[in-house]
Amino acid sequence: MRRCPLCHSDNTARFYANKKRCLYHCHLCQLVFADANSHLPPSAEQQKYRLANNKQKALARFMLDLVEQCEDGHTPLLGLNFGRTLDSKALRKISKKGHQLNQYDPSLAPWNRSLKQEYDFICCYRVFEHFRFPCKEWDLLKQLLKPGGWIAISTPLLSDLSAFDKWHHKNNLTHVSFYQQATFEFLANKVGFKLLFAANDLILVQKPSGSDITRDQTSVVV
Ligand SMILES: [Zn+2]
Repeated sequence: MRRCPLCHSDNTARFYANKKRCLYHCHLCQLVFADANSHLPPSAEQQKYRLANNKQKALARFMLDLVEQCEDGHTPLLGLNFGRTLDSKALRKISKKGHQLNQYDPSLAPWNRSLKQEYDFICCYRVFEHFRFPCKEWDLLKQLLKPGGWIAISTPLLSDLSAFDKWHHKNNLTHVSFYQQATFEFLANKVGFKLLFAANDLILVQKPSGSDITRDQTSVVV
């Protein structure tokens, strides 16, 4: 038995094992997570992560779509790109629209000024699967969001537990946390956020504005 690194439940079971590692399934939040004993040493993890950091075009497209979704045509937005770094060309496009995007890469800086502000939107592009203790990042992200703000997450969404042995994302040893739609329902419910969408590797969560902030189970719409 292993304690879940997202919801801390002990209601977990060994789910899958191969020569390289063992994965566990949490029956409460539905996270599938790698045994901490199999985590790569930080230096090897960072090297692999950097080699795989070739998603600039896809990240730029994801970010620009997100900005378009969030903007109302006249209010400047303050956004946070959490976990990756966007190239200067895409950054210029965003600032030309009058918005500001701060960037935070935990592998470069454990803490910085970007984490002391509140944001209209937060983008987490292909980073959630790398979180070893995702409760830590989730707690931080929910605090960084303004009321009414959005979190957009791109992560490989696990949709069929029975087909896990054929799912290629499990083969990347830097991928240590796998989420199901139900995992994001659990997370949103826990803090009273609205889960607007969770399919096709895209998750959209909104913090209710002002007095709407309640733990309302019925507000989850998928
Ligand atoms: Zn859990």
